[in-house]
Amino acid sequence: MASAQELGVTCYVIGGFVRDYLLGWGVPKDIDVVAVGSGIALAKKVASKLEGRPQVSVFKNFGTAMVKHGTLELEFVGARKESYDRNSRKPVVEDGTLDDDQKRRDFTINALALSLNEGDFGMLLDPFDGVGDLERKLIRTPLQPDITYSDDPLRMLRAIRFATQLNFTIHLESLQAITENKARIKIVSPERIVDELHKILSSKKPAVGFALLHKTELLPHILPELVALEGIEEIEGQRHKDNFWHTLEVVDNISEMTEDVWLRWAALLHDIGKAPTKKFHKKIGWTFHGHEFVGSKMVYKLFRRLHMPLNEKMKFVQKMVLMSSRPIVLSEDFVTDSAVRRLVFDAGEHVEDLMTLCEADITTKNPRKQRKYKSNFKLVREKIIEVEERDRVRNFQPPISGEEIMKTFNLEPSKEIGIIKEAIKEAILEGDIPNEYGPARDFMLKKGKAMGLRAT
Ligand code: ATP
Ligand code: MG
Repeated sequence: MASAQELGVTCYVIGGFVRDYLLGWGVPKDIDVVAVGSGIALAKKVASKLEGRPQVSVFKNFGTAMVKHGTLELEFVGARKESYDRNSRKPVVEDGTLDDDQKRRDFTINALALSLNEGDFGMLLDPFDGVGDLERKLIRTPLQPDITYSDDPLRMLRAIRFATQLNFTIHLESLQAITENKARIKIVSPERIVDELHKILSSKKPAVGFALLHKTELLPHILPELVALEGIEEIEGQRHKDNFWHTLEVVDNISEMTEDVWLRWAALLHDIGKAPTKKFHKKIGWTFHGHEFVGSKMVYKLFRRLHMPLNEKMKFVQKMVLMSSRPIVLSEDFVTDSAVRRLVFDAGEHVEDLMTLCEADITTKNPRKQRKYKSNFKLVREKIIEVEERDRVRNFQPPISGEEIMKTFNLEPSKEIGIIKEAIKEAILEGDIPNEYGPARDFMLKKGKAMGLRAT
């Protein structure tokens, strides 16, 4: 790196890039470069030598600068030393050496540095045996874990997230320190928490992360709705399943079927309404009546609390939660065309996602039931295709408009119109008439007549 030499600074690639490079893991998106000296000056110098002279985005407050080169983001920062205040995640920063900078890193595997300097180019600087921890598959802090996590409690979530993504173990002392510092998570912004939750949920086996959040007792501070699902109660010999551990199984199941992080959120939250709706009845045992509706309301509150987007993504999750039991009823019973038509009508464009959620929801350990549910769901999926081709109810547009009803019976806007429209929709969904103009018009005329209306 001639730029660094010209400026008389030494610099190193550090952090995630080095870790992932040594692991042979993924495609790098960002490369962090630490300069012993000004990171901003180095960024400008480097950019001036790159093809196309890319722009440098400078973040003066952080002493960092970013250069985009193709799909890569090069992040430059001056080596620094940090000290923390108890009430904030934001450290007081002063210039430091490479060694200082490596000490402020969260984990040994994130403190690895590769030299970019003439003389020792490509040399790995690994003061905390990060390479050994990569081999041992271990998340460990460079300094005393208690201080590391207390200084910046976001690191507790990062530890769990990396353990989940990389399938690593968290060092026992770290695990204890996280548990002790769990309440400090309150100084981390909801946005950063959600960032980590997204990354956990995007992993191959998200349940690993949620089990760790549970074990370290962070979960009650983040998603108390899930914790409320834990436990099995027994009254008069009647038990219900542990809905927390069931939920984690569902999340892992669905992660084998979809990459869609919002569908994975839906799996995570699909049963949250079960805690507030749980009841025991002497005759029928445990029930969770209306938990889907209650759960979908809870989704809104949860999204709002965590500053998540209250947009169509949230509505999607709500809808999945609300409808999460619908296909199950079908899979247990004889599947009628009209039941399938109603399902497709209500789920609309999300009917496949809903089926995926319900299939992931099968966690019974009884092989006979497992087989039965799976084959019934297969039948439901086939019926969905069949009904779709014939009746096109997915994006249902009624074949008769309100205007036509008004004209036909010479009506002013009134509730009769709504009644007739609804009756036509019902007749189509029930399969009494096909989803076509002619039969719908005949049906409208009959219905109007029965209501005492006269066609003009
Ligand atoms: P990924 O990009 O996959 O999330 P990463 O390790 O690159 O992983 P970044 O958030 O991009 O994570 O951070 C880059 C580097 O900065 C990390 O490797 C680590 O050395 C350091 N770092 C990031 N966040 C912290 C933190 N909260 N405390 C200490 N060091 C951190
Ligand atoms: Mg990174």
